[in-house]
Amino acid sequence: MNRRRTNKAVARMQDALLRFYGEKGRDLPWRRTRTPYAIWVSEVMLQQTRVETVVPRFAEFLRRFPDVFSLAAAREKAVCEAWAGLGYYRRARNLYRAARLMVHQLAGRMPGDEAAWRRLPGIGDYTAAAVASIAFGERTAAVDGNLVRVLARVFALPGRTATPRLVRAVRAQAQLLVDCEWPGDINQALMDLGATLCRREAPLCPRCPLGRWCRARREGNPTAYPGRKAKPARPILRIAFAWCERGPALLLEQRPLDGLWPGLWELPSASGPRAKQDLGRRFGQAVGLRLASVRHDLTHRHVVASVYRATVTRQPGQKWWRDPLVAPLSSLARKAIVAVREISEKAAPPPSP
Ligand code: SF4
Repeated sequence: MNRRRTNKAVARMQDALLRFYGEKGRDLPWRRTRTPYAIWVSEVMLQQTRVETVVPRFAEFLRRFPDVFSLAAAREKAVCEAWAGLGYYRRARNLYRAARLMVHQLAGRMPGDEAAWRRLPGIGDYTAAAVASIAFGERTAAVDGNLVRVLARVFALPGRTATPRLVRAVRAQAQLLVDCEWPGDINQALMDLGATLCRREAPLCPRCPLGRWCRARREGNPTAYPGRKAKPARPILRIAFAWCERGPALLLEQRPLDGLWPGLWELPSASGPRAKQDLGRRFGQAVGLRLASVRHDLTHRHVVASVYRATVTRQPGQKWWRDPLVAPLSSLARKAIVAVREISEKAAPPPSP
């Protein structure tokens, strides 16, 4: 694409984003002002908290501390109290420290550019760029997760979420888009687009202002961008269960009240890499044949449980159950009991005619 055509495409995308922002942008209280103080406070509140939670707290905070002087003159305890409900109180303390720096070292002036904002406590790259572009019209892109998702899709950028390479590529494209008279509005349009239309799953492409330029959409698979982070392999937990019968009853024991499946019942067990041997040691005799094996997935690990025939006497915390499936069983124990029963039913000789 030659330079003239690139510039034309960028100008059209900017127009589309500004129109979208004007017509469909979210109506948020900090957008009704261009006061740097209010914009700074809102961006810090939004760092780790959802918009819906921030809206009422923002109004209340500004009522108590309407400007940087009142904030700097307050006690830190009062600032933290006004922060209640937003969580991550370190942000409130940094906000307070930054206000005192501005009042005592800058005579109450807000820093005028992104680099100076970044030197204040609690201000990272994104917040510095957001405040500088929205409050001061600096042509700098505010790159956060939403913006990475949107532009990785629009330009079909390779790379996994949040890798430095992808973020660099996104920043380069975003920088072209904010290079205009309304950089703050472009940043906010992209934020809104990421929050409302270009969702992680099921993006609403037909309503998207950048739809006609979006390469991921054209490829027919927008959610393939950005590439997903590789999931860490889940470790395997091995469990050995003892299958002890007395007539029609089965021996179960209750699990401790903390840890996995607290208070539920299961077959007597041992776990770990030498689960079978440990189970034998627990009962003072080697366990017998393996009757069944089941797999079970937990959030952070896979469980592989084998059930072995065993002959043991009842111990404290254990009980004979004539119908073990009515007991409050752990999901793993239920799976294991059903598996053993199914295998034995299949192996049983057919009834004589
Ligand atoms: S067209 Fe779809 S995938 Fe592309 S930016 Fe818009 S919402 Fe996202």
